[in-house]
Amino acid sequence: MDEKISALEKENRKLRELLWLNHSCTELYGDDREMQCNKCAIDFKRDSAEKISRRFAEIGILNIKKNLQELKGFINGRRRK
Ligand SMILES: [Zn+2]
Repeated sequence: MDEKISALEKENRKLRELLWLNHSCTELYGDDREMQCNKCAIDFKRDSAEKISRRFAEIGILNIKKNLQELKGFINGRRRK
């Protein structure tokens, strides 16, 4: 049983590492086996999968809002011409 848990822990760590390295940010901190992103404020080593998922959703919503604001600015700029 302990071997299975150990194997699952290793697998979990590897998946977290892959997520950390491939989630599109470059502001990564990885000294001392840490797996953090300064831009997203996610600790890929300690945060639960649920917390990481919620943070990705929050970031997605913030990006949509930012894109809508930029689109509004673009449309309003065109109307003034
Ligand atoms: Zn990030």
